[in-house]
Amino acid sequence: MAHDPDCIFCKIVAEEIPAAKVYEDDYALAFMDISQVTKGHTLLIPKDHQPNIFELQEETAAYLFSLAPKIARAIESEFQLEGMNLLNNNHETADQSVFHFHLHFLPRYDKDADGYKPKWQTHSDQYTAEDLQHMAASVKKQLDLTT
Ligand code: 5GP
Ligand code: ZN
Repeated sequence: MAHDPDCIFCKIVAEEIPAAKVYEDDYALAFMDISQVTKGHTLLIPKDHQPNIFELQEETAAYLFSLAPKIARAIESEFQLEGMNLLNNNHETADQSVFHFHLHFLPRYDKDADGYKPKWQTHSDQYTAEDLQHMAASVKKQLDLTT
């Protein structure tokens, strides 16, 4: 199990710092995000230190995502939410601030006024259907399902 002594989430895993835990087993941990962007804001992490989606092992991903609906339903049962966003940031440009893979569960209460406001601008007018086909073909070439 990789452990980075400088990583805040590894410190939570090692119980060097406390966390409000929702779920724990040998491989995964879910706990309340200290920032509580919306009430019930929860994080799910692998116990193994894997920095981001690009480096996340597939079996770790499979296990974490198998827990995701259970965590989501537990949060849904407890809070009077009206929706939920799952969010994962990778690298600083994408607003990652803790470099240990984590999935945010963000309960939503009000579309415009509950604290969660992703920046989201569409540019569909700048891409033709042909552009999309071209991009899809390029990514498809890169896709390696054998590892
Ligand atoms: P990111 O910005 O990397 O997607 O998310 C990191 C999250 O970790 C932030 O929402 C932040 O509030 C949370 N966080 C940072 N330090 C701690 C901590 O010590 N305890 C808890 N529970 N959450 C933390
Ligand atoms: Zn870590």
